[in-house]
Amino acid sequence: MIKCERCGLLTKDEETYDCHGRVFCEDCYIYLTNPPKACDPMAGATALSIRKKLGQSGTTGLTELQRQLYNIIEERGKVTTEEMLEIINIKA
Ligand SMILES: [Zn+2]
Repeated sequence: MIKCERCGLLTKDEETYDCHGRVFCEDCYIYLTNPPKACDPMAGATALSIRKKLGQSGTTGLTELQRQLYNIIEERGKVTTEEMLEIINIKA
């Protein structure tokens, strides 16, 4: 077993990833090689305008995950990121 240098998770040797000589678990390796990007307002505006052109509103045209997020927010009115992650059981 090897300890991930980022999160400390003990990982089987064959399931670890080497990044610049440091060893990480799969999740951390993906995080480090594809860091999550902050919300892009331009992308958001473009997506919204495309949805308008297609006549999509509400949950129309959303992916299953997006629809889930939408319904939870609509149902509860207000949800924190932490609550949302717990409800739909995904990683941040
Ligand atoms: Zn890790």
